[in-house]
Amino acid sequence: MPPAALAIIAVVVVIGIIALIARGGDEPVASVAAAEPVIPAISEEDIAAAAEQLGPRDQELVSIGETGVSINRAGGGRKYVALTFDDGPGPDTPAVLAELKKLDVPATFFVIGRNVKENPQVLNQVVAAGHEVGVHTWNHPDLTTLTPKEQESEIASTAGEIVAVTGMASRLFRAPYGSVNPAVLKRAEDAKLLSVLWDVDTVDWTRPSTEQIVQTAVANAGPGSIILMHDGGGNRASTVAAIPKIVSQLRAKGYEFATVGDLVISDPPGSDDMSSDSRSTQQ
Ligand SMILES: [Zn+2]
Repeated sequence: MPPAALAIIAVVVVIGIIALIARGGDEPVASVAAAEPVIPAISEEDIAAAAEQLGPRDQELVSIGETGVSINRAGGGRKYVALTFDDGPGPDTPAVLAELKKLDVPATFFVIGRNVKENPQVLNQVVAAGHEVGVHTWNHPDLTTLTPKEQESEIASTAGEIVAVTGMASRLFRAPYGSVNPAVLKRAEDAKLLSVLWDVDTVDWTRPSTEQIVQTAVANAGPGSIILMHDGGGNRASTVAAIPKIVSQLRAKGYEFATVGDLVISDPPGSDDMSSDSRSTQQ
């Protein structure tokens, strides 16, 4: 091969290599992006700070409870009730959200931290739909059987996970099984959370019929009631089916619906509406 031909081949090869390098540089390379370290949007310190930070509404909410008590219902001055759903977010939560949306009813969801970690997008659907979120611990233990440090961890980890996923801090707390004592209530107060139980228990976790759930909710609800139901912890088809019937029957009696926070802020509970002891057992 003459030297001129070799030189031409060499130039073509070099141009080809340059072209390849240039192309690679222009295009975003997926593998490079994937290899980048995942930087959390919010640092652990920011999460802890956000969980502690109180806006004006938060301040009002947290100061509603007296020291060492849980709220069982609002003051009873207005024909409003709050629907509450525990133990999600889970597979049945979207169906609950769909019913609430059709009915234009706001509700409150007391979420389990480990379920939030598994289903963050479901929690974001809850928040995007305008519902309120409360802390229901990470592992759903009976908190009265734990050490103070374990109690604190169960509450703080869940509060932090809610902030990490939604960017918003919760100011409500519900103890699993409604099981509280002065130590548990102190942990909630330290975390700047208002302890909320209920005055109407649908016992939907015992898998009664839809009609039984409706009957229990409607017959026992009064002005300011906080109604306990579940969107997690097992198949909730009966609960989902009960929602439109509960809403239409309570509306027929003149009731309207609010989140727990709005309910207690607009109609503050009196001493009779609070308790320092546990509620009856529930899931
Ligand atoms: Zn629960």
